[in-house]
Amino acid sequence: MSDKLTAVKGMNDVLPEHAGAWEALEAQVRDLMQRYGYANVRTPVVEPTALFVRGLGEVTDIVEKEMYSFEDRLNGEHLTLRPEGTAGVVRAAVQHHLLHQGGQRLYYMGPMFRHERPQRGRYRQFHQIGVEVLGHPGPDVDAEIILLAADLWQALGLQGVTLQINSLGQPEERRAHRQALVTYLEQHRSALDEDAARRLHSNPLRVLDSKNPAMQPLIEGAPQLLDYLGEASRQHLDAVRAVLQANGVAHHINPRLVRGMDYYNLTVFEFVTDALGAQGTVCAGGRYDGLMQQLGGKPAPGVGWALGVERILELLREQGQGVAATALDVYVVVGTPDAARVAQACRALRGAGARVRMHAASTEGQGSIKSQFKRADASGAAWAMVLGEDELARGVVAMKALRDGQHAEQQREVPLAELGAWWQAQHPG
Ligand code: ATP
Ligand code: MG
Repeated sequence: MSDKLTAVKGMNDVLPEHAGAWEALEAQVRDLMQRYGYANVRTPVVEPTALFVRGLGEVTDIVEKEMYSFEDRLNGEHLTLRPEGTAGVVRAAVQHHLLHQGGQRLYYMGPMFRHERPQRGRYRQFHQIGVEVLGHPGPDVDAEIILLAADLWQALGLQGVTLQINSLGQPEERRAHRQALVTYLEQHRSALDEDAARRLHSNPLRVLDSKNPAMQPLIEGAPQLLDYLGEASRQHLDAVRAVLQANGVAHHINPRLVRGMDYYNLTVFEFVTDALGAQGTVCAGGRYDGLMQQLGGKPAPGVGWALGVERILELLREQGQGVAATALDVYVVVGTPDAARVAQACRALRGAGARVRMHAASTEGQGSIKSQFKRADASGAAWAMVLGEDELARGVVAMKALRDGQHAEQQREVPLAELGAWWQAQHPG
C-alpha cells in the first residue's frame, strides 16, 4: 500500500462543515460591494516574480522570505504564486488601460500564498478579500473604503475590531523623517535585532513595523512621521477622519502604524482585534499613489485594503457568530424504482427555487419508507416529498412538513404537474 497523501503544511482544506460560513461571508461581501458600486476583478494566481519585487519593494518580509517562486520548466520564466492581490490588480489595470474609462472601483476574492510559519491565523495558503480604487486621489474615497469595511463588520455581526489610522505622508516628508530616524537608530545600534540592523539603512521605516517585543521600547521612542507631515498631508488625514467621525466609525491615530509594503503613502489603516493572539490584524490597507507608475503605467492614484478571510471567520466563530450551513428545503423519499420520474419531480421543485436532496435509492438502498424518513429528519429539511408507486400511478406526490412552524400539520398531495407552482405559492416573494 502506498503512503497516504496529505495537504501541504500550512495549506488547509475547507470541509463542508465549515464551507457554509465561507459561502455566507462571500455572499455578504458580493451584496455589499454591489451596493457600493464596486465591480469584481479576477487576476491569475501566478504572476511574473518581477511584479512583486517591483510592486512590493525588495526589502519587505514578503519579497525577502515569503514568496513561493519557481522557474517555468519549459521556458525558464521566473514566476511566483501571488502573495497579495494589489500588484496583480494594478498590473491588469495598466495592461488593459482600465483607467481610460475613468476611475475604477474594484474588488477581488481569492487565495494568496506566503511561506510563513503556520500557526493560528497564519497559513501558507490563505484567502483575502480586497478592494482597490484606482484614479481617485481624494480623502473621500479613502473614507469610503473604510466605511465599506465597517459596514461589512456590521453585516456579519462582527464585534470588537478597532480601527487604527495613520499617515505616511509623501516621499519628501518621509525623507526628512528617515534622516532623523536613521540617526536615532544608529544611536541605539546595540538594541537592534538582526532584521532591524539590516534594514537600518535599506528601509529604516520598516524597523517601526517590527513585531519583536524586545524592540518595542526602542520603537516607542523613535521620531514620529506624523511630526514631519506638511500641510497638505495633514489636511488629507483630517478629511478622512472627519468623514469617519460623522458616520460613527470610531478610530484612533496610531503613529507607529506603517504598512509592510513600500508602495503606501498618505492614509494607512488597520482593523485589529486582541482576540486572535499575535495575528490581530483582520484588515489592512492604505493609499498607494506611486504604484501605477512603478508598474509601468501612467501615474495614477490608488487606495485599497485586504482582509484575511480565515481570521474574520475565526473571530466570528470565537464570538459565537458561526454561520449555519444552508439548510435543505426538501428531502425526497423514494418508494419507486422509476428514477426518471423521481428526477423530474426534484427538478420541478428546484426550478421553483427549492433546495432539494434526493434519496439516492441505487446506493442508499430503497430501504423502508420509515428509515428514509429518519434520514429526511436528520437532513434538516423542512419538507419530505414522498414518491411512492401509489402516488406516481395517480400523478401526484405527497408533501409532508417535517418541522414545527408555519407548515406544521401539513400533509397534502400535489399533482406532479403543479409542483413548481405549488412551491412558489408556499414561498411568496
Ligand atoms: P501580518 O502583520 O499579520 O503578517 P501583513 O501585514 O503581512 O499581516 P497584509 O499583507 O496587509 O498582512 O494582508 C492583509 C491581511 O491578510 C492581514 O491583515 C491578515 O488578515 C491577512 N493575512 C496576511 N498574511 C496571512 C497569513 N499568512 N495567513 C492568514 N491571513 C493572513
Ligand atoms: Mg505578514
